[in-house]
Amino acid sequence: MSNFSRRRFLLTAGATAASSVFLKGCLGNPPSPAALSPKAEAIELSPEQVPETSTVKLGYIPIVEAAALVIAQEKGFFAKYGMTDVKLAKQASWASARDNVTIGSANGGIDGGQWQMPMPHLISEGIITNGRKIPMYVLAQLNTQGNGIAIARMHKGKGLGLDISGAADYIKGFQQANGRKFKAAHTFPQVNQDLWIRYWFAAGGVDPDNDIDLLAVPSAETVQGMRNGSMDAFSTGDPWPYRIVADDIGHMAAVSGQIWRFHPEEYLSIRADWVDKNPKATKAVLKALMEAQQWCDQAKNREELVQIVSQRNFFNVPIRILQPPYAGKYAMGDGKADVGDFKMGPMYWKDDIGSVSYPYKSHDLWFLTESMRWGFHKGKINDIDQAKQIIDRVNREDLWREAAKEAGFNSEIPQSTSRGVERFFDGKEFDPENPEAYLNSLAIKRV
Ligand code: CA
Repeated sequence: MSNFSRRRFLLTAGATAASSVFLKGCLGNPPSPAALSPKAEAIELSPEQVPETSTVKLGYIPIVEAAALVIAQEKGFFAKYGMTDVKLAKQASWASARDNVTIGSANGGIDGGQWQMPMPHLISEGIITNGRKIPMYVLAQLNTQGNGIAIARMHKGKGLGLDISGAADYIKGFQQANGRKFKAAHTFPQVNQDLWIRYWFAAGGVDPDNDIDLLAVPSAETVQGMRNGSMDAFSTGDPWPYRIVADDIGHMAAVSGQIWRFHPEEYLSIRADWVDKNPKATKAVLKALMEAQQWCDQAKNREELVQIVSQRNFFNVPIRILQPPYAGKYAMGDGKADVGDFKMGPMYWKDDIGSVSYPYKSHDLWFLTESMRWGFHKGKINDIDQAKQIIDRVNREDLWREAAKEAGFNSEIPQSTSRGVERFFDGKEFDPENPEAYLNSLAIKRV
């Protein structure tokens, strides 16, 4: 890269704070279009499958969770099913995505897109939208895994790994030794990344509400804080974990697949009014997503996937930063063994338990049970029965099933709306038939 183009690149990238933190050295040549495989071809749709509209505006956040949406667009799967004008709209933050779905595409916002959980349920109930209820439908899971907990460099050698029970006193005593509490961040409160780090702290005997400061902070600010010693931990998703270790900003305590193997991660959810008006288009979107997810999970496609999503109009990060997580490779740092298992990285269609794409109601129930554990929505979501009623309104696994059947993925359709008992690294179990037993088994909780 010439000095001129490098300077220009740095100036451009500097506009995106998240990208500016890490740029080092030359970033390699742009991918050659010749390396890309052909796009899917349009198929002849039966009259009952022709979508009511060919357009939908879906928001996404430029992290690995969004890959199947990008691939559905770029490899022609949306167009294959008649959705020839899908607009993928990059969102500046989760709060922007929430605000944009609240106003809807007719007013310059979005119809739906990528969400952490249980954002669709909270938006439907008006809990994070100033009381304004925007009914939404959960339609598919986008991915499993691909997230993790990063620790600032200053805590090397203190035993901050998957199990922190041996380091709990160090974390709790941090205030006395340093004049401030141990500080941890996520990017949006009361959803996945907050839930993962809360689970991890509490499993090790650290109360995330009382023993530390845990708050929502933009990613770039968190990473700067980790560099300058004002931030201690970050619950985040790929490609941040790789960058934090590669740039020696810190190490990984755990990747999310170690905390809960094949856990539910982010989801596709669209406003109910759009889905109700466009049921065939909804199923067309789902079929395209399913094909994209299958494409993403084939190891032979990962190199091309990285080339596509790394582009400036999508994730805007160098290819070298996305390659390791997409191969399931994580340098953990701090003396821990590296992870090198394709199935420990992000997966999109199928894992060793079953379907990744199918939106199990039992997973929605875990998210709402965990919300109850932390006392998040007292007075709004009060008990398991009420949680189940909300899930029955929001989760449209029936549409996923119909779409999968129409697309011919019959053998991939789960038998039940429950994935069954879930197991965590610390031996706890969540039985969807008995969420109360799970809550009872937890030592640190607000219920
Ligand atoms: Ca995530």
